Formats: sequence, structure tokens, C-alpha cells
Amino acid sequence: MPPLVVYQNYVHGQYVSNSTGETFEVINPATGQVSYLVETADADIQQSAMASAKSGFAIWSKLTPIERSRILLKAVELLREQNDELAEVEVLDTGKPWQEASVVDVVTGADSIEFFAGLAPSIEGNQQPIGDDFYYTRREPLGICAGIGAWNYPLQIACWKAAPALACGNVMIFKPSEETPRGAMRLAEVFTQAGVPDGVFNVLQGDGRVGAWLTEHEDIAKVSFTGEVGTGKKVMAAAAGSLKDVTMELGGKSPLIIFNDADIENAISAAMLGNFYTQGEICTNGTRVFVQKDIYPRFIERLVERTEQNIICGNPMNPETNFGALISKSHQQKVLDYIEIGKSEGATLLTGGTALQPENCPNGYFIAPTIFTDCNDEMTIAKEEIFGPVMTVLTFESEEEVVRRANNTQLGLAAGVFTQDISRAHRIIHQMQAGICWINAYGASPAEMPVGGYKMSGIGRENGSETLKAYTQIKAVYVGMQPLDSPF
Ligand code: NAP
Repeated sequence: MPPLVVYQNYVHGQYVSNSTGETFEVINPATGQVSYLVETADADIQQSAMASAKSGFAIWSKLTPIERSRILLKAVELLREQNDELAEVEVLDTGKPWQEASVVDVVTGADSIEFFAGLAPSIEGNQQPIGDDFYYTRREPLGICAGIGAWNYPLQIACWKAAPALACGNVMIFKPSEETPRGAMRLAEVFTQAGVPDGVFNVLQGDGRVGAWLTEHEDIAKVSFTGEVGTGKKVMAAAAGSLKDVTMELGGKSPLIIFNDADIENAISAAMLGNFYTQGEICTNGTRVFVQKDIYPRFIERLVERTEQNIICGNPMNPETNFGALISKSHQQKVLDYIEIGKSEGATLLTGGTALQPENCPNGYFIAPTIFTDCNDEMTIAKEEIFGPVMTVLTFESEEEVVRRANNTQLGLAAGVFTQDISRAHRIIHQMQAGICWINAYGASPAEMPVGGYKMSGIGRENGSETLKAYTQIKAVYVGMQPLDSPF
């Protein structure tokens, strides 16, 4: 066997080796094999990344917005040119199907950079007369921002965080998940190729300790975090030590509400997309599927039929595969444990519920698409985020009832409704305690649309022009036009 490739940290426009020699293994979830090693960002690397970010900020923040925009648009062009190569990296690191990664992950990451590059030159202050005097405001960058990412959309998450940060003149030190380190490092390479100055986007590799170092560091002005609620709380508590600004993109247990008058096939497509896309590892998934009583039997029959017939599980690089492997053996076990809890608490397992060993990938971390019925709101599987392909179907009778039950959770990331009644659609969505909502749609998240959570699902937004405010601070400047009126 040839020796494993060892990747290094990306600091100041190049890969640099650490001093300790400490590395960690990255496993391909579809094969269970170690794919490569990555050097951990030790203290020397961390210090040099910080020094590099400071010098990067001195250059990048002084460019005109149009100049920054032009460079970022070049990065967009390169990302699109390298789409297939980058998508393959994402497939091998995450276990998700090529069918998805080749049309979503890089594309939506590039879209976000393009969107914010377009907005950069429109960032402006205002001025107001105060008698003969006046004041004006400047929207200034925050400085060095930290991005900390989850493993489900590694490159896309890095793009969504870097795009508004860099467009506003900030620099970013990004720490990807230890399970998926390559997406962010490839983005860093693309930025360098595009002409982004050294130090503007550094990538540090390692586990939560590297994330914690960033979160606690006094020279970091802001942390944008994507991950679990529990980790988010730790990050926010640590950020409080130096009163950093935070953006928190956390987990969900979102409701998908389907009324009797809905187009059933369309609603089933949404339920399947919202539970089985990326093998269920999506934060906005509609894992509590509320179906109105009259259509319930037909809905269930077609849902099971389509799930059993249309899901193709196997080698994620096979273009036919539409259902991949879970990120790790431990995560696979966690999801299987939830399935056991569902059964033991009395839910009926309609289909799935087991690990799978597809012929072309027998050692991967696959789980069959799983559907539970006869569920109630108190069951663990209806309350906790599973982050795997496990759908919980619940029934309801009235609007009032479903709104109350849908909102009965501490989480509030997303919500969806299917109905032909346009008034009811808006009425329901306006009552949802959730930041990302869909009517007769599920999961679409264009760069123009702000996304983020209510309640414990998050703080702040990503994408959409809203986000510019989160990466700039206002300086107000008062200008006196006459001698001061002073008693001294
Ligand atoms: P996680 O375990 O919370 O980890 C997220 C990131 O935080 C990883 O890079 C992790 O490093 C790092 N980390 C761990 N401990 C830390 C600490 N004390 N300080 C700073 N950083 C620390 O989440 P995950 O398992 O990777 O991702 C799944 C979760 O992400 C789900 O809950 C999902 O809903 C959520 N998510 C939310 C969104 C959204 O937009 N709302 C999008 C995608 C995913 P290591 O893993 O390398 O140790």
C-alpha cells in the first residue's frame, strides 16, 4: 500500500507543516477506510495564522469594495471551473452522493460568494444634518473573524461564512470539522489562485480544541459557528470572555405540515427530500411530518412505496446513487440507537430501521431510509435531532392543533406547509416559530434568502443582504461646523 497523503494547514497562501508532527486520520464514510492524514494546527501554526490574518487584514480592508468584489468574482469563476473535482472531494469526505454534490455543494457555495461580491460595492453609510453641523456613518469591517464548520456541507459552509466576511473587508480563520477537512482547504487554494491576498483566508485543522482556541482568542472579533446546539452554547460562552460577536447556525427538529388539500405526490417529495436528502444529515430537515387525518392512509401508502422503490443506496460516486453513507461509524450507531428507542417507545417502524451493506460498498456507514408512524409528540424520536434518515410521521386534525404542536419545541430552525389554500398557507407560516420557512416547497436555500434559526436553533443569519450588517460595524462621525459652545 502506498503511504497515505498528509495534508497540512493553510496559512498565508500556502501549506505549512506543524512542529509537533501530530496528525489525525480522515475516513471515507462509504468504505470505512482511512483516506488520508491531516496535520493538527499546533501552537506554532496557530500563532502564525493569527499574525498572517493581521497582515492580511491590513491589505484587504484597504482595498476598495470594487477591487475586493472583482477578486471574489474571480474565485467564483474558479470554483465553477473546478466544480467536478471539488464535488468529488466532498463526496469522498462526507459520503454524500455525487448526484447531489456535483449540482449543489460547490454551486451554492459559489452563488453565495457571487451574491456578496455583488453587494460589496453597495455597502454605504449615511449622513444627516444637525443644524449647521452634521454627522455621517461609515460601515467598517470587524477585523479577524473565525469560521467553525460542521461536516455535512464542508465547502458550502466555508463559502457561506467567508463570502459576507470577505466582501465586507474582514479576514477569516476557518476551522473545518475534523471529519471533513478538505473542502475549506480547497476553497483557500481557490482564493489564492483568484488573487485574494495572503492571510485573508487561513485554514486551521484539528478538533474542538482548535475551535476553542479561536473562540477564546482576544484578537478574534467574531465567531460564525455551525454545529450542534450543545457545542454552540460552549462557543458562545467562550466568546463572552472577550465580548465577541457571534453567529450561531445550530440544529433543528422542524415541522413539515401537510393539509388534506395538498398535492399529495408533491408533499411526499418534500417529506422525502426533507428527510432523506444527504442521507438525512441536513439541519433544516422536516423530521416531524404532520399529516392531516383524511389523507393519512393514502399518504403513508405512497410514501412507503416511493421510499422502497426510488432510493438507490450504494457507492456515492456512482451517478445512479441517490442515498449515501453517514459520516462516521459512531454517528451511524447513534442513529441506530435512536431507531431502537423509537421502537421501544411504541412507534411503528414502517420501513428501514437497519444498517445497510450495499454490494459495491459493504463496509460503509449506511442506514436504510427509515419511516416511523403511530408516533406522538412525547417520543424521543419526535423531540430530538437525529441527523440521519429517520422520518417521524404524526397526524393532526385542526389548524390550531398543528400550530401548537409544531411550535412545541425549543428548536426553531425551519418549517414547511403544503396546502392549496393560499390564505391558510401564509396564516400557518406566520405563526411558525422558525427562521426558514417554505410554502409548497422544502429545502431550497438560494444565496439571496437569509437563513438562520429562532429559539435555540441559532442567532443571526447567513446569506441574504441582512448578513452584511453582521460583518460590519457602524462608526458615527459628528462634524462641527462652527466654534464650540463651551462654558469653560
Ligand atoms: P458539532 O459537533 O457541534 O461540531 C461543529 C464544529 O465545532 C466542528 O468543527 C467541531 O470540531 C467544532 N467544535 C467542537 N467543540 C468545540 C468547542 N468547544 N469550541 C469550538 N469549536 C468546537 O457539530 P457537527 O456534528 O459537526 O454537525 C452537526 C450539527 O450541525 C447538527 O446539529 C446540525 O443540525 C448542525 N448544522 C446546522 C446548520 C445550520 O445552518 N443551522 C448547518 C449544518 C449543520 P470537531 O468536530 O473537529 O471536533
